[in-house]
Amino acid sequence: MCGIFGYNGIEPDGVKKILEGIHRLEHRGYDSMGIAFLTGDKVECFKVAEDEKVGFDIKDLAKKIPNKKVICNIGIGHTRWATYGGKTVKNAHPHFSNGLFIVHNGNVENFEALKKEIDAHTLYSETDSEVIVKLIDKIFQDTGDLVKSIEKVMKMLVGANVILIMSKDHPGQLFAANKGGTILLGKSDSGVIIASDPSAFEGYHIIKKRNLETNEVAVIHSDFWDIIAKEVVTIEEDYLQDIDKNGCDFYMEKEIFEQGAVLRGTMSGRLILDKGNARLGGINEIARELRNVETFHFVGCGTAYNACSYATLLFNRFGISARAWIASEFCYSHPVFGPNDAFFFISQSGETADTIEVVEEIQIKGNICLGIVNVPDSRIARLTDAGVYIRAGKEKGVASTKAFTAQLVTIVLLAIYLARQRKMTIDTGMGIIEELILIPEKIEKVLKQKNSIKRLAEKYKEFKNYYFLGRYFNSVVAQEGSLKLKEISYMHAESYPLGEMKHGPLALIDPSFCSVVIIPNDSVHSKGVVNVREIKGRDGVVIAIVAEGNSFELADDIIEIPEIKPRYEYLYPIIATIPLQLFSYYMALELNCNPDKPRNLAKTVTVG
Ligand code: GLU
Repeated sequence: MCGIFGYNGIEPDGVKKILEGIHRLEHRGYDSMGIAFLTGDKVECFKVAEDEKVGFDIKDLAKKIPNKKVICNIGIGHTRWATYGGKTVKNAHPHFSNGLFIVHNGNVENFEALKKEIDAHTLYSETDSEVIVKLIDKIFQDTGDLVKSIEKVMKMLVGANVILIMSKDHPGQLFAANKGGTILLGKSDSGVIIASDPSAFEGYHIIKKRNLETNEVAVIHSDFWDIIAKEVVTIEEDYLQDIDKNGCDFYMEKEIFEQGAVLRGTMSGRLILDKGNARLGGINEIARELRNVETFHFVGCGTAYNACSYATLLFNRFGISARAWIASEFCYSHPVFGPNDAFFFISQSGETADTIEVVEEIQIKGNICLGIVNVPDSRIARLTDAGVYIRAGKEKGVASTKAFTAQLVTIVLLAIYLARQRKMTIDTGMGIIEELILIPEKIEKVLKQKNSIKRLAEKYKEFKNYYFLGRYFNSVVAQEGSLKLKEISYMHAESYPLGEMKHGPLALIDPSFCSVVIIPNDSVHSKGVVNVREIKGRDGVVIAIVAEGNSFELADDIIEIPEIKPRYEYLYPIIATIPLQLFSYYMALELNCNPDKPRNLAKTVTVG
């Protein structure tokens, strides 16, 4: 989480560059923003946070800088997702100690112990970041060697942490250090850019770039960097594509509406129709090892965990043993697995700290580690033995939409590939592919119903409680629909497998409780109808997602989705998710919530 940006170059508009950089990284956190820059021999530092202005944005930070034309060619910026201390100006980065200014991304897990190493009464904030800069300063005062002081403190930190430092005493240099996180260096024709993710490189002609690897420290000059060196890892160019809202009001809206095109991209070149198989270059080299895997474990968090649940159901349907795990629970729940099991790690960003913790644990055990990620060259992509990119393109909306459906399609491709290695026949493979090809068009048909879904959000905005319910594959859609509504509209929403209602949740049903039921024409439809009757019999309100042409009079409102051939019922979640994304999006707008900046959340969860 937290977005770090730094500029050290030859152009005088450094302040503008840093503000733009912070703006591009806002998806990583927006609890506070701050900038520190050197002008002449003076460091200027400005900050803004929620306690000063609720819903502030980058313009509020810019307004604080009195001289807009100030000459500056070196500085650092930060956009925060608070972990230690509230969302206040006092806790906003950059933090400082004498002439040292730091921006930080991570969590210092031994914070209390390290506090004892400095004069704790001098601390002005509640953050771990301030402790880091005070410690570096303390050692620097004793040794006079800043790089060694940084190295020493980085070694003392427990947890994943990245820092970027500017020093009044080292006017032409910035210092970056990484221990377990991600930070990128890019050399452009106007200077060196340092950023938490490649989205901040947009607008620059990047000549050379590199990840600062774990345990490395970089001394950054205006046209080069010195690294306590390791091997060079380059970042894929095609990820640095243009990103704007394409005429939409919010990134989330843009990303929902581009899903047809995204899924065509996910499948492109990967379908071998006449062989009823999928072509997945990323795992080809270990095909033989995969044939001998006994159980596949899927590990993820949030939306990615919902994708893990889907993978488990689909693999089991194809006769392959599989299990889903919530990443943050894995290491602490004494998991039992065999030496012939393999692990798939699902993460949009490829930087999710909880998931990375499991990758590292499984590497100790020696099982096969595979990634299903979106961002090329991200940590999970680099740490795993092999993997498949979901190719969703940049996802800026904090609440995941297109990455989820791209994860589901990638899982279908994987399931076909692994099932064809085992017992699936060519005919079955061909049939699935034929049906899968039709999915993007079906999604586009659902998206055309945006106005009627918007009207539903308007109609239901007074409801404060929601259940999202579905059976079998659509229980996953219920999980994701409920998460989406919670994330961006702050409505109370829970999900259950529909058949579970009578075992407890039904107790809450009354006319003020809305149940969103996903009930297309699948093998569990008639059982689901009985469950909906049970809700209606208690005066509950029901919105039903049904297959086209099914009037489903039991429900108060319906949303139709195109039909899928019954034998491929497992593809329904890919399209049934779409109306729920739209419902949550329009609900957020109705309730005046900013869907791109849901409160308390951030896009890339790099803290564990
Ligand atoms: N721990 C730091 C803070 O609370 C950084 C948080 C982060 O990287 O998300 O300010």
